[in-house]
Amino acid sequence: MATTLAPVLTDTWDADRSWTLTSYERAGGYRGLRRALAMQAADVVTMVKESGLRGRGGAGFPTGMKWGFLPAPDGGPRYLVVNADESEPGTCKDIPLMMASPQHLVEGMIITSYAIGCHHAFLYVRGEVLHVYRRLLHAIEEARAAGYLGRNILGSGFDLEITLHAGAGAYICGEETALLDSLEGLRGQPRLKPPFPAVAGLYARPTVVNNVESIASVPGIVRGGADWFKGMGTERSTGHGLFSLSGHVTRPGQYEAPLGITLRELLDMAGGIREGHQVKFWTPGGSSTPIFTAEHLDVPLDYESVGAAGSMLGTRALQIFDETTSVVRAVTRWLEFYKHESCGKCTPCREGTYWLVQVLKRIEAGRGTHEDIDLLLDLCDNILGRAFCALGDGATSPITSAVQYFREEFEAGTHTPADVLFPPEHSSLF
Ligand code: NAD
Repeated sequence: MATTLAPVLTDTWDADRSWTLTSYERAGGYRGLRRALAMQAADVVTMVKESGLRGRGGAGFPTGMKWGFLPAPDGGPRYLVVNADESEPGTCKDIPLMMASPQHLVEGMIITSYAIGCHHAFLYVRGEVLHVYRRLLHAIEEARAAGYLGRNILGSGFDLEITLHAGAGAYICGEETALLDSLEGLRGQPRLKPPFPAVAGLYARPTVVNNVESIASVPGIVRGGADWFKGMGTERSTGHGLFSLSGHVTRPGQYEAPLGITLRELLDMAGGIREGHQVKFWTPGGSSTPIFTAEHLDVPLDYESVGAAGSMLGTRALQIFDETTSVVRAVTRWLEFYKHESCGKCTPCREGTYWLVQVLKRIEAGRGTHEDIDLLLDLCDNILGRAFCALGDGATSPITSAVQYFREEFEAGTHTPADVLFPPEHSSLF
């Protein structure tokens, strides 16, 4: 189920057996592919560039521009790799999309492969979600049986195979270069960038790595045109997107809307915060984006406005917490996740997340010292910009922002050093 102000990706979610090819074709599915195959590949790239589509995996990098970074063809293979390893805490849009309407993604992969000159595309899905794997496998088989995949697709002379690959459940494998290592059979750890995958990616060949929602948005752009897509959203954050509402919300779920919508508007659609409560804090884009508070309910959820207000749009995973939630507890829980998932390759992230959890747990238990808040911020400072990939940076965001807005809650978990050395209950001993 999805509630929608922009029924594009979610248009068939409520239909009977929405995941089938028949349901998708009934709603106009694969018209985009027919149109793309009648165009020059370079014109498809131009159309996606002109649409302004920005990567929906979190970073918001312009999709068409990324495709344009591929070097000129040299006769060797070039690849499309779709990142379906969604695992950022709170982020839960790609899995519902792949379950409800996998053909959006399959059609998007075929159009994208045609546009960039790829004949073998890979779909990397996290291994824990066997039901999603099965659904994607079924969708790929249906597409092949209908002539949308394989040799000479729809008589165009274009050939494409899609390989579906299940990961093994490591958050780091959502980082694009760790994903590529994992796909190659290596331990998933990030590579040094540059070179970016566009230049040297899978098997050191030019590779486009895109998120599920980005690629699933391509058929709509080809069908509707760049201007149609740009007609939604804001000037620099164009189009529609899935907003995932979770937490203390009356009707949590997926809400498809133009970028630039506010949380207040989304909450109106979602029945508001649970009765009798108020928003205390929320994440605009998953736990690796700085938290917002009730003051930010009217910030337009587009890349520029969220950035100007001090956070990041990220994955549009809106985790909403009411006044009954301890911000220290929430942040500690997130940091336990990052500590567990740190791949260990670089010291700032491996050691830093470990120590952040130690200090946070001390504060949460009311056994911190006043110095601990500065220690937390100092640790964050030593991770931010010094870690090998975005995991380390992301781990610092909830801490620094939570201290900024709710410092008194951290202070409540601390005592003066003297209090710790000479606790009042032991004063009779001295
Ligand atoms: P990034 O900004 O480094 O890169 C974004 C994309 O642009 C990459 O594909 C990269 O290869 C490409 N790119 C950037 N500069 C380029 C250049 N000069 N030439 C060619 N290509 C270039 O960000 P990232 O590390 O890929 O991703 C970080 C984001 O991931 C975070 O902002 C977070 O929101 C998000 N994230 C999402 C999840 C999830 O579950 N979806 C999980 C963790 C993090």
